[in-house]
Amino acid sequence: MRTRVVAVANQKGGVGKTTTAVNVAACVAAMGKRVLLFDLDPQANATSGLGLEKVEGASAYRPLLGEGALAKKIQKTAWERLEIIPSELDMCGADIEIARLENHVQRVKLALKPVVDSGRFDVIVIDCPPSLGTLTLNAFTAADSLLVPLQCEYYALEGISIITRLLNQLRDTGVNPGLHIIGVVMTMFDGRTRLSQQVVDEVRQHFGDVVFDTVIPRATRLAEAPSFGQPIIYYDKY
Ligand code: ATP
Ligand code: MG
Repeated sequence: MRTRVVAVANQKGGVGKTTTAVNVAACVAAMGKRVLLFDLDPQANATSGLGLEKVEGASAYRPLLGEGALAKKIQKTAWERLEIIPSELDMCGADIEIARLENHVQRVKLALKPVVDSGRFDVIVIDCPPSLGTLTLNAFTAADSLLVPLQCEYYALEGISIITRLLNQLRDTGVNPGLHIIGVVMTMFDGRTRLSQQVVDEVRQHFGDVVFDTVIPRATRLAEAPSFGQPIIYYDKY
């Protein structure tokens, strides 16, 4: 089976991208697939969420600039079949430096190609930063599909229309003709408020089947898990 590359993206901050990326990656690995979590965000939340320290020189930064193989940055985690390309602060510079290079939207795609072609992973999950900068554009170019977390709040719909527009541009210009949204996941659903349900209803009206049936509740355990460096299925088994 061909390696599938899924980018978890939303330009809005704090909507649940990293929580989704870390936990989807861990769950898919637990189901028996070989998974690579690629932390493309200088905040490195996915890296610490899987219990790794931020280590200077450990990120994709240099390979993205064309220095060295990205495969050398892949590290094992505490869990079977789950590996990671960690991030750290130097990725802050990547956004600007990559923008100055040739093929500047293809950098992640080109660096990932040998990893994809090797067939070493079934799925590569990319955790994107909260912006539509060069790194996110690179993720959109490298990905087969986008997984879009939307927080159950008033501005959710505006966020997704920006992503949809960018996706259409990448498709229409031929940069990534096959790119599609694999699903929209509603996050931080609060059953005590009417707003959460209203937002879910409205998003479903607009986007129909592409919205996952499963809605992620607001849950303290989910917010705590990263500080223990564990995906939720290990931090809170029941
Ligand atoms: P950024 O844009 O900064 O990268 P993000 O979109 O990756 O943020 P997360 O880091 O996943 O978002 O989540 C933002 C905050 O909300 C974190 O503190 C996280 O632990 C918390 N959080 C995420 N999902 C839930 C949830 N379902 N219930 C409670 N807290 C949550
Ligand atoms: Mg994040």
